[in-house]
Amino acid sequence: MITVRVPAKVNVQLGVGGLRADGFHDLANVFFAVALGDEVTASAGEGVTLSCSGPDADAVPLDDSNLAARAARLLAAHHGIADPGVHLHIAKAIPVAGGMAGGSADGAAALVACDALWKLDTPFETLLELAAELGSDVPFALLGGVALGRGRGEILEPLTVSGAFHWVFAVADGGLSTPAVFRECDRLREDAGTGSSDVQVPTPDADPALLAALAEGDAVALAAALANDLQPAALSLRPSLAATLRAGTEAGALGALVSGSGPTCAFLAKDAEAAAAVAEALLASGTCRAAHATYGPVPGASVI
Ligand code: ATP
Repeated sequence: MITVRVPAKVNVQLGVGGLRADGFHDLANVFFAVALGDEVTASAGEGVTLSCSGPDADAVPLDDSNLAARAARLLAAHHGIADPGVHLHIAKAIPVAGGMAGGSADGAAALVACDALWKLDTPFETLLELAAELGSDVPFALLGGVALGRGRGEILEPLTVSGAFHWVFAVADGGLSTPAVFRECDRLREDAGTGSSDVQVPTPDADPALLAALAEGDAVALAAALANDLQPAALSLRPSLAATLRAGTEAGALGALVSGSGPTCAFLAKDAEAAAAVAEALLASGTCRAAHATYGPVPGASVI
């Protein structure tokens, strides 16, 4: 039996370019791995079967659409294993459809867990390529730490970070569909008269001030540089998130933003004590279903 721990991510910068002809957007995506994460346990089984536990377990599909199952099958196919056998149990702590790449995390964890269970010793570079086939956010869940993602987010460059940063995540009731949030982003750009195609919208790039704040371990500077181009779209689809962001800021967070495509909101705090206080105040405000204080960066999917 092999258990793999895998982090959720928050995008400290999510720059969204125009809509490309292939339907994707060019991104400048600074991924940050946090200790809030899932655990995926692989044990011997017949076929590929799944189970899931945790507060959001009912919202997780247990069929072949689950990224953990797809990852197991993809790894088996890559090695020419015609009849893979594994049971995968997902202990789910990452909010489902929350903008923290929980499904992608489970896909990365399943690659690592099955690789160890089946004693395949797949090179890390190959696991990264298989991860990119599964989805844009899966390679980062393997890598962890902090990284700049370009293209659809799958071309990764690890970034230097000093020290630890303290975060709070406010979990909303219900999820938001990532494609729907991108569509809303395009619609808002059309309405604003700026256009939404990659010809009209400049290609985004990483913010030098944000990269410097990460390298220096400066939480105040990082808070000032937090940026998410999807935030207006997430707020448009879920206006109640404005009250969540306000509640965390009023409770002393240094900075606040919607995590990825939302609806989870992320708050940067001065230290662990301040994070605990922000989490408590967020819960008391009634503007979220749960609030978790955590920290990062942490490593990617690893056997424990
Ligand atoms: P992202 O930020 O990468 O867009 P997300 O965090 O918003 O993702 P996920 O939790 O990854 O969203 O789930 C999105 C959808 O993916 C779910 O509604 C569910 O139908 C499907 N899904 C597939 N595999 C998983 C999984 N292992 N865990 C959770 N959802 C999964």
